[in-house]
Amino acid sequence: MPMSKDYKSRLFPSAEKIAQHYGTPFHIYDEKGIRETTSKLKKAFAGIKGFKEFYAVKALPNPSILKIMHEEGFGMDCSSIAELALSRKIGSGPSDIMFTSNNTSPEDFEAALSNGGCILNLDDITLVEKTPKMPELICFRYNPGERRTGNSIIGNPIEAKYGVAHHQIIDAYKLAMEKGAKRFGIHTMLASNERDYTYMVETARMLLNLVEEIGSALGIKFEFTNIGGGLGIPYRPEDNDLDLDSMGKEITALFNEFKEKHGYAPALFMESGRYMTGPHGVLVTRAINKKEIYRRYVGVDACMSSLMRPGMYGSYHHIDVLGKEDMPKTLVADVVGSLCENNDKFAVQRELPAIEDGDLLIIQDTGAHGHAMCFNYNGKLRPKELMLKQDGSVDMIRREETLDDLFATLNFTPDRLAL
Ligand SMILES: *Cc1c(COP(=O)(O)O)cnc(C)c1O
Repeated sequence: MPMSKDYKSRLFPSAEKIAQHYGTPFHIYDEKGIRETTSKLKKAFAGIKGFKEFYAVKALPNPSILKIMHEEGFGMDCSSIAELALSRKIGSGPSDIMFTSNNTSPEDFEAALSNGGCILNLDDITLVEKTPKMPELICFRYNPGERRTGNSIIGNPIEAKYGVAHHQIIDAYKLAMEKGAKRFGIHTMLASNERDYTYMVETARMLLNLVEEIGSALGIKFEFTNIGGGLGIPYRPEDNDLDLDSMGKEITALFNEFKEKHGYAPALFMESGRYMTGPHGVLVTRAINKKEIYRRYVGVDACMSSLMRPGMYGSYHHIDVLGKEDMPKTLVADVVGSLCENNDKFAVQRELPAIEDGDLLIIQDTGAHGHAMCFNYNGKLRPKELMLKQDGSVDMIRREETLDDLFATLNFTPDRLAL
């Protein structure tokens, strides 16, 4: 199921009022739903000592969202300087931030190691030499190559640019030790939008085996294993939920086994983005045009610049027409924006109830990789973000862009180089 019945029951009766007050389009997130999901995750892994989720900031980099994650005891998974700055600004400390960059630049290192540093997750063996100051605690991102094929979305690890290869992994830790590292973690990220929980169990098993292999080769213990993000959500009405409880039980059993065998177990870290916030956001947009040519089209006042996933990946996002949820779906139409790109479509040949100009469309599951992926091509502006708070009020948590924002980079000091 896309968007929960509970969120619907709180949002839909007020959606028209919210739309009239703030103007469309906007993304609106559900604080209650997000907090419930954080509790569910913590409960599922409560049996593993030191379990910690590092929210993948790139999924929804809004400080109001990050503050909720911080309050719930989560850390932040960052992969850019901006994400580090945002996380520090809302109060995440050095042990709350994991920096998983790739193709890391000197500026990335400088930002990661400033402000008391963070947990550095190196993407390659050559970066050991390039790390300006080896921290005491170091982590490497592991790429298992042919040992493990990725799921269909993330692709084959052999073709992925990420991580340290299997034949380099022991040397990577050895080099880091020579540079002064004394505490260790290991990370991998092999899934994307994967709803089969057994996949994550296998990832945990693979990392624990690796911890055993590296640990015995170098005589070291690991403080944590990080199985990455990639937990999937049901975008289509017929999709099943990921079975989080079974995932928790089976991974906990693996950690208990490890502990029995080795007398200790590392902590479990995770860096889920989509699973935490994806289902708890929707894009609200108004129908402004209808068009009938070879196909039928419904034109709305949002476009791809508010939600890129359908255009970029052909992703399905469920759509309800406000007030017509139970009406027969007599219309087959493409729901489109105004961008001069024919993939600017929120839905293709979708069965919908009859739509009139002025109707509100609720495009669902936009709480992760939604607003975050917005862009400005064709001079289109990013929409505002709102939060439906637990007390039932609505807060604006980011304003919409204006033409002044768009043109801000045209305001600069002239700089001509004579050659
Ligand atoms: C994108 C990303 C995540 C989050 O992925 P989700 O699919 O949103 O869970 C976590 N870790 C890394 C390294 C990523 O690049």
